[in-house]
Amino acid sequence: MGNLIKITPRDNVGIVAHLDGLPMGTDVGNGVVLSEAIPMGHKVALSDLSPGDEVLRYGEVIGHAAQPIRKGEWVIGDKITMPRPPDLNLLSKGEEIIDGPAPSISGYTFEGFRNRDGSVGTKNILAISTSVQCVAGMSRYVEEKIRRELLPRYPNVDDVVTISHHYGCGVAIDAPAAIIPIRTLQNIARNPNFGGEVLVIGLGCEKLRPERLFPPGQSTDHSPAGDLLYLQDERFRSFSDMVSGIMDLADRHLRRLNAKRRETCPASVLVVGMQCGGSDSFSGITGNPVAGFAADLIVRAGGTVFFSEVTEVRDAIHLLVRRASSVQVAEALIQEMAWYDDYLARGGADRSANPTPGNRRGGLSNVVEKALGSVAKSGTSPIIDVVGPGERVRKKGLNFVATPASDFVCGTLQLAAGMNLHVFITGRGTPYGLSVVPVVKVSSNSKLGSRWSDLIDFDAGPIAHGQKTIEEMGWELFHQLLAVASGDQKVAADRLGLHNDLVLFNPGPIT
Ligand code: CA
Repeated sequence: MGNLIKITPRDNVGIVAHLDGLPMGTDVGNGVVLSEAIPMGHKVALSDLSPGDEVLRYGEVIGHAAQPIRKGEWVIGDKITMPRPPDLNLLSKGEEIIDGPAPSISGYTFEGFRNRDGSVGTKNILAISTSVQCVAGMSRYVEEKIRRELLPRYPNVDDVVTISHHYGCGVAIDAPAAIIPIRTLQNIARNPNFGGEVLVIGLGCEKLRPERLFPPGQSTDHSPAGDLLYLQDERFRSFSDMVSGIMDLADRHLRRLNAKRRETCPASVLVVGMQCGGSDSFSGITGNPVAGFAADLIVRAGGTVFFSEVTEVRDAIHLLVRRASSVQVAEALIQEMAWYDDYLARGGADRSANPTPGNRRGGLSNVVEKALGSVAKSGTSPIIDVVGPGERVRKKGLNFVATPASDFVCGTLQLAAGMNLHVFITGRGTPYGLSVVPVVKVSSNSKLGSRWSDLIDFDAGPIAHGQKTIEEMGWELFHQLLAVASGDQKVAADRLGLHNDLVLFNPGPIT
């Protein structure tokens, strides 16, 4: 509609596409004249609405009019009430399960670091895992020393990364929920970008004993068991003694990592985690559909894609269940939603705790509208499996990895699931980055894309103005992902060294 974006013919609201918004009196066509100035990304009523009438975007109900809304009026959050979430007990689990994936594509490759277990790294990193926060200062001290003194001797190693966290002691370690942070730490150590070279620093008196974290009997090619070091070990007679003990251990791992070289690998070994943060109303029109198109291409090339963020898919679960590849997968999806509903209820919260004030300023009225845009980044492939929080992926294809929507918690859990490349879509803007994997930041609007041109890796904004199609930009993003995975192109977060902390999801009690 020229100045407005209407997503499906059913919609009775349109989205202002113009970067500067539209002034009062603008004729947007079809007899709709704006009765007030409306900012970019916000909604315009395309017909008169009476209290209780459905407000439709993406062809779905995002709310009901809470008051009379005239055609041409700005539809902001408090003019509409939020619909109830889909009833998990009433979802169909099987009748509408979709067919197989779209036709496969072949011939797409990148240069990666092959591991003995078949996984492939997009970076070659030495990891220092820790069993407890008590050793965090020490491990960071050693990390800096390794970076300064050892890394220059090992040019094929990209970095050294400490996995520090607040877990490990002062926590109810045998509570049922403790399984989540514990398996997250175990599985992060198996991330493909660590190539199996992980050393573990423990204290000695903590609850989460390193041997519980990495049981010696379960040592595999890709497990760090055997390289545990306790600071309280009596063979260490001083701080400098401990430091040299860790440096020796690090040197052994670095030598092995340095022998690795990038090799040509098929795109089928990519494990791409999709996430959004700081979304706006454009996210569901530009950034997320482009990411979704690229996600489909990765899946069609035989690769693996994760989408996550339970609170941002909860209100679109009826659409996702239909895409489950089996009744079991549909049930697993519903089960993760139910677990999270309970988790929020125990904390006296519900899904309306999401969205943020920034999401609202970006034109998103409520979490229903946010969720309908959010799921677009999963593309259209069948959902092949559901991975619980902290678990490792089992199947190639599109996986739902159940995580909170919090950027750092989601990113951390996707790392544990085995992600080797991250796509992060933002409309409001965030300098988000992770040290373990490259994070390709996609802006949903060109206002952000140009203002933050040195922080954003890919601007999906041109779609909103009809300059490019989702398909064109989806292919562009796909090719950019291959270049980034190969190390040929550095993402902004890595170029600038902007890396967030890893944050464990601990739904269990602290003692
Ligand atoms: Ca997020």
